[in-house]
Amino acid sequence: MTQKYDVIIIGAGISGAAIAYELAKKGCKTLNLDRLAAAGNGSTGNTCAIIRTHYSTLEGTALAYDSYFYWKEWDNYVGNTDELGLARFYDIGMLVIKPKSFDFSNYLKLHDELNIPYEVWDSDMLLKKMPHFVDDSFYPPKRPEDSSFGEPSTEKINSTVIFFPRGGYINDATLSVHNIQRAAESKGAAFLFNAEVVEIRKDSGKVTGITLKDGQQFHAPVVVNAAGPHSFIINRLAGIEDKMNIKTRALRHEVHFVPSPEEYSYEKEGIIVSDGDAGGYHRPEAGNLVLVGSEDPACDELDWIDDPDNYNRDVTTEQWQAQVYRIAKRIPNLRIPSKPKGIVDLYDVTDDWIPIYDKSDLAGFYLAIGTSGNQYKNGPVIGQLLSEIISACENGHDHDREPIRIKLRNIDFTLDTGIFSRNRDIIKGSTFSVLG
Ligand SMILES: Cc1cc2nc3c(=O)[nH]c(=O)nc-3n(C[C@H](O)[C@H](O)[C@H](O)COP(=O)(O)OP(=O)(O)OC[C@H]3O[C@@H](n4cnc5c(N)ncnc54)[C@H](O)[C@@H]3O)c2cc1C
Repeated sequence: MTQKYDVIIIGAGISGAAIAYELAKKGCKTLNLDRLAAAGNGSTGNTCAIIRTHYSTLEGTALAYDSYFYWKEWDNYVGNTDELGLARFYDIGMLVIKPKSFDFSNYLKLHDELNIPYEVWDSDMLLKKMPHFVDDSFYPPKRPEDSSFGEPSTEKINSTVIFFPRGGYINDATLSVHNIQRAAESKGAAFLFNAEVVEIRKDSGKVTGITLKDGQQFHAPVVVNAAGPHSFIINRLAGIEDKMNIKTRALRHEVHFVPSPEEYSYEKEGIIVSDGDAGGYHRPEAGNLVLVGSEDPACDELDWIDDPDNYNRDVTTEQWQAQVYRIAKRIPNLRIPSKPKGIVDLYDVTDDWIPIYDKSDLAGFYLAIGTSGNQYKNGPVIGQLLSEIISACENGHDHDREPIRIKLRNIDFTLDTGIFSRNRDIIKGSTFSVLG
C-alpha cells in the first residue's frame, strides 16, 4: 500500500465512505482509515436508519429531502458494484404525533417552501390507519418509576397529526456503507481497516498526514475527521478542539425491540411513528418486530459519555421499561417480553444538535462531525458537501468569511453551508434533541 494520498479520511462510517466516494469521483486519491474491522461497523452499524424530512431549519429540511432521493434511487447512486447486494429502502412514510401545545406551523412552512408533500390527519383518520393506537395524550412523558405513570389520560392528543409520505428506513445500514465503499473503490478509493489513528501530523501550521497505532505513517495534504462519536478525540489530536465555538461529545442511547401487536403487522402495514406526545419513536423491524427509540423527553437524564471506548453496551432494565412502557401507552396491546432486547450505541452530539461540516483552524484539516443522532440519512449529501468544501478551500477560497453555497443535486435548493460552521452561534431554533 502506497503511503501518499491526496486526502486521508479518518472513519469509514456512512460519512467517511460517502466523502471518499465523492472525492474519488473527482479523481482524488483517497484513503479511509478505520480502527474497526470493516466499513459501517461504528455507530452507523447500530443506527435506526430512519429517513425523514421534518427538521427545525430550512437547511436541515432541504438536506434531508435531497437525501431521500438518493435512498430512493440507491442503485443509481452506488451502481451495481457490490457482491453483497444492495441495501433496501422501505419507502413507507412517517407519522408525526405531537402534544396539543405543539405548533406544527414551522414544519409545514418549511415543507411548503420545499414542496415536500404531507397529509394532515385528524383523530378519526389516525385511528382508521392505526387501529391498534389510542388517541389519548400522555404528555408530558414520564418515567415508569414516577408514581403517576400509570394514571389514566384525561386528554386527547393534538386534534391533528401529520403524515409525511416521503420517509422510511433502510433495512441494513452496514450494508449501505459497504455499497458506498465498493462504489468508491471502483473509482480508485482505498480503505484500510484495523487501522487506528493516534497522531495527526503537521508542519508549519498545515496538516501533513497521520500516524497509526502500529507506527505506520500515511501522508496527505488534506485529512478529514469523520470519526463519529470519537470526533472530539481526533480534534484533540489535531489541536483544534479549543478553537471551535461548537463542540462535540458522545451520548449513549438505547434502542429496543418488541414483537408486533397481534392485530396489526408492522412488517406488512407498518409506518414510522415519531410520537413526541408519548416521548418516543418506533418503526417496523425485520422479523415482524417493532423497533422502539427515545426522543429524549425531559424526564430522562441524558447519558453523556467521557470515554467512547468505555461505556455500558448492555440494555438496562430501567431504560427498556421507560421506552417500551411509554410506547405501550399508545399501543395498549403491545406484547412486552420479560427479557429486554435491544442495542446500545453513541450519538456524536454538538452543542445545538446541528452537525458540523466545515474546514478547521488547522490548514488542510476538515470536519464531518456532530451528526447528533440524526444524520445517517444525509450520508450521501455529506459526501457532496465535504468534497465541495475541500475543493473550494484547497483552491484558496476563504470559507470562514464567505461560506460556500452548494446546489443540491435532487431538489431545487442552494444551500448556504454557513449553518454547519464550527464557529456559528448556537442555532436557537433547533429542537436541541435528536430531531435536529
Ligand atoms: C442508536 C442510534 C440510532 C440512530 N438513528 C438514526 C436514524 O434513525 N436516522 C438517522 O438519520 N440517523 C440516526 N442515527 C445517527 C447516525 O447513525 C449517525 O449520524 C451516523 O451513522 C454517523 O456516521 P459517521 O460515519 O459520522 O460515524 P460512525 O459510523 O461512527 O463512523 C466513524 C468511524 O470512525 C472510526 N474511528 C473513530 N476513531 C478512529 C481512529 N482514531 N482511527 C480510525 N478510525 C476511527 C470508527 O471506528 C467508526 O467506524 C442514530 C444513531 C444511533 C447511535
